[in-house]
Amino acid sequence: MPQMERTFVMVKPDGVQRQLAGKIIGAFERRGLKIVGLKLLRITPELAGRHYAEHRDKPFFQGLVDFITSGPVVAMVLEGKDCIAMVREMMGATDPQKAAPATIRGRYGIDIGRNLVHGSDSPASAGREIALFFGNEELLDYDLGIHKWIYE
Ligand code: UDP
Ligand code: MG
Repeated sequence: MPQMERTFVMVKPDGVQRQLAGKIIGAFERRGLKIVGLKLLRITPELAGRHYAEHRDKPFFQGLVDFITSGPVVAMVLEGKDCIAMVREMMGATDPQKAAPATIRGRYGIDIGRNLVHGSDSPASAGREIALFFGNEELLDYDLGIHKWIYE
């Protein structure tokens, strides 16, 4: 059994409004990642401030909070081998104009403030963000039947 990681991923309000949630979740599913938690929610300004605490002093912070609280998001926890870095690569660069075309941001985005998706940037961030959005009872432990066709 390979060493499994969990990461926090979110389809941002632009992704939900543009009805790309299924495409974005599907990209991770097709790669072979397992969904262990999933929900639609509206982020409060308080939760937004905690989630993006590292950016509190940046000039874009207030705009980011306004945007992330502007509509529902799809929050999820994905599990897989080395999935924290893998999800970041699949998302592409923060600025969609600089993101490779085959990435989620490179495929669907144009502006940095409308980049569709969030993914934890390190194991420490993943642990912190998963705990911020999900209770333990919301994370399901189950076997994915196709596991042996994804991992050797
Ligand atoms: N952001 C923005 N303007 C900027 C930089 C960042 O609106 O100039 C937003 C953007 O939504 C980004 C988020 O702030 O995804 C968090 O920024 P970070 O640098 O952590 O990028 P990420 O980890 O999401 O790639
Ligand atoms: Mg970040």
